Amino acid sequence: MKDIKLSDISIDKLSLPLLIDKGVEVDVLRLDKIHPDINGNKWFKLRYYLEDAKLQHKKTIVTYGGAWSNHIIATAAACKISGIKSIGIIRGEETANLSPTLINAKEMGMQLFFTTRDEYKHGKVPAQLNQNGNYFIPEGGYGIKGAEGASTILNYCEKESYSHICCAAGTGTMAAGLIKGSVSFNRIIAISVLKNNFDLEEAVTSLTGKEANKFRIIHDYHFGGYAKHNPELLYFMNDFYRQTNIPTDFVYTGKLFFAVNDLMNKNFFTPGSKVLIIHSGGLQGNASFSNGTLIF
Ligand SMILES: *Cc1c(COP(=O)(O)O)cnc(C)c1O
Repeated sequence: MKDIKLSDISIDKLSLPLLIDKGVEVDVLRLDKIHPDINGNKWFKLRYYLEDAKLQHKKTIVTYGGAWSNHIIATAAACKISGIKSIGIIRGEETANLSPTLINAKEMGMQLFFTTRDEYKHGKVPAQLNQNGNYFIPEGGYGIKGAEGASTILNYCEKESYSHICCAAGTGTMAAGLIKGSVSFNRIIAISVLKNNFDLEEAVTSLTGKEANKFRIIHDYHFGGYAKHNPELLYFMNDFYRQTNIPTDFVYTGKLFFAVNDLMNKNFFTPGSKVLIIHSGGLQGNASFSNGTLIF
């Protein structure tokens, strides 16, 4: 099993005609490079939960996710590296063909429990999992510890040099961490990947406290909802790869880069802005496409 290599995080400066035209500089923080399975923000969100579980002498991590969940695969891999057992409670009944994500998680030693969508929604835990030795991590790593872990993402760049820090948001844990870890003049722009998830502001501020003027959530780039996509998004992802050599995923980072590009066109960023985009990984989810859909 490969170790996590934080030294592989790079900052890639984008040189696209649009940026020169608008007088804006853009850097990409490549968290996708740290590990093939735990790529991106998930390791950062998990780190303090894992530390806490160890401190409490827990033997097993239990967490939740869907069949293509980046959080599930990252938890399985992080637990294997840390020498702790893992259990995934999976949304939906078991199917004859497991997704590559779940096959991979299982191979890393994660035990899977399938629940009906209804049970999952109500947070029902299979009775045998309610044991003392089990440490529960909320879905997506949402919580104070997740945000504290995510705040350390900004140790891998010179945050003082940026006017804006842009990220994708699901649960908002990473965005909350970036707000916590940022300096006073950084503005955090979070692109929500869920449709009309207007509770996200509240989800973020309940982790950060009152920081309302430091961040903005933009709800216009969900492409129909979580994990939904259209040809325009896929065309953009391929075109972006052709121009920058940076691969993106269709659930989070594709929408993030599309959004930043569109906002740039609409003069959202004033000339002289210096923007950092967090490439939060998630590339394993692209395996759900048939060959040839994406060029990378
Ligand atoms: C999970 C994930 C996110 C969203 O993180 P939240 O903390 O849930 O908002 C963003 N990008 C990628 C690639 C992810 O896997």
